[in-house]
Amino acid sequence: MSEYIIKNGFVFDPLLGIKGEKKDIGVKDGKIVDASEVKKGKVIDASGKTVMAGGVDIHTHCVGPKVNIGRLMRPEDKLFRSRVKEGNTRVQMGFAVPSTFATGYEYARMGYVYANEAAMPPLDSPHIHEEIRDTPIIDISAMPVLGNNWFQLEYLKNKEFDNNAAYTAWLLNATKGFGIKCVNPGGSEAWGWGMNCTTIHDPVPYFDITPAEIIKGQMQTNEELGLPHSLHIHPNNIGNPGNYETTLDTLKLAEGVKTNNKFGRDQVLHNTHLQFHSYDGTGWGDFCSASQQVMDYVNKQKNISFDLGCVTFDETTTMTADGPFEYHLQMLNHLKWANSDVELETSSGIVPYVYDPKIKVCDIQWAIGLELALLAKDHMRCHLTTDHPNAGPFFRYPRIIKWLMSKKSRDSLLHSFKWADKVIDATILESLDRELNLYEIAQMTRAGTAKCLGISDMYGSLREGTNANIAIYNINPEDMPSDPELIEKAFAETAYTIKDGVIVVENGKVVATTPNYTVWTHVRVPDNPIVDHDIREKFAKYYTVGLENYMVFDEHVHNPRAIEVDTTA
Ligand SMILES: [Zn+2]
Repeated sequence: MSEYIIKNGFVFDPLLGIKGEKKDIGVKDGKIVDASEVKKGKVIDASGKTVMAGGVDIHTHCVGPKVNIGRLMRPEDKLFRSRVKEGNTRVQMGFAVPSTFATGYEYARMGYVYANEAAMPPLDSPHIHEEIRDTPIIDISAMPVLGNNWFQLEYLKNKEFDNNAAYTAWLLNATKGFGIKCVNPGGSEAWGWGMNCTTIHDPVPYFDITPAEIIKGQMQTNEELGLPHSLHIHPNNIGNPGNYETTLDTLKLAEGVKTNNKFGRDQVLHNTHLQFHSYDGTGWGDFCSASQQVMDYVNKQKNISFDLGCVTFDETTTMTADGPFEYHLQMLNHLKWANSDVELETSSGIVPYVYDPKIKVCDIQWAIGLELALLAKDHMRCHLTTDHPNAGPFFRYPRIIKWLMSKKSRDSLLHSFKWADKVIDATILESLDRELNLYEIAQMTRAGTAKCLGISDMYGSLREGTNANIAIYNINPEDMPSDPELIEKAFAETAYTIKDGVIVVENGKVVATTPNYTVWTHVRVPDNPIVDHDIREKFAKYYTVGLENYMVFDEHVHNPRAIEVDTTA
């Protein structure tokens, strides 16, 4: 395998506390080594460039059934743009919901090497594993969707916490899943009855449990098992004016909850796409930002983390396991619409959406996403996402970085809006002078995300001995460009992306692909005959598939990289 020395770059590695020092990095046998160990390797001159670990995306929807339905439902998505085939790449298609090949290549061009698929319907997990196999370069984990699962609703209602833990472990093993995702707890099940849960105290029909009880029970299960990542929640009441109160009620459930894990994770709750949950106002007329109220709380509460869900002003395709929300959205915009109910497990929906700068609400949403990042005091637990593709496609991350690093660029957009005065009144963005630095960007895009996912021993750092996943950007911290567009360009197209020791991108072009891995969590729990019985019974009575066909076969899992968790020891 090739050997390299990356010479004279400005290195940013928050997990090692390295803040832009000039440092040489060695690569040998696919691993990062001390530069002195590389005797005859190729020298990569990184003078005047920024060197970071490969990026780690904590929340994206890049593989799986709803992604595929999004592709099928919107053939017009292919008309936006298709990159011309480069060298030995495969054909790339799609914009908001790119093909698997475009997905892997675009992440690699931005210097990313890892993506966490945030919503795997357990029943459809084989499809997810097939798309992981199909996606080049990037390693992928996928979180099974819980929060509306009948087993879990019953166990938590009856306070059978050990049984809930045993079932959750079984489900992770059955689906080769990574961690616990909770979407609109109780609300997606309620939607099957034509209802929703918009506060954490609304009872779930039939099950007689509240979202608050579900969330607390899942946090307890997560820590009882000691999983790598915390509970990952999409709270109730997404997208509605005034919903920040539901968000704060949700986050407060983590107060006093302690972590129990061996993976270096410090949080017990991750609130995803916080932008969609930080709204004030009583309706769309007085809709306004609640980012200050939300961040005043989040900054103080060290055991929670969040990602942004930034709006990028694109025509996109929304998709979520929050079935009632997608129904609500299509009633607002009357565009194409798909919804489905996934048996005993979850629901989901897909609706296209156009974030138009001429619409005041879209502009306010855009401002809120940026405000959250600019108000954050600790970027190790504030992460860059667009909830791809919900608020915009993931390959707009460089544009968001530009807005966060340059007040000039965000102000010029803000003042160009048709309703600029109203948007300025409804938000605090104009008053925020802060410009994030490269260290904070490294925290938001690799170090912090890897640590919160509990994978910082493998990803997110340039520590010696870890897999050589490296991004080299054309940006000089001692001579930052005065033109903000150059910041976006630098983060969109790396000078080099190295994945597992192989140069996969050079000067923004994909030049090679490497085998990618499926990261999942293998959990051992004590034998539990009650849960075994319940699983057999529910499959016989309710599921449309047999238990044997539900389990993901080993051969379905592409290059598995299992994280071991053993509660029996
Ligand atoms: Zn999402």
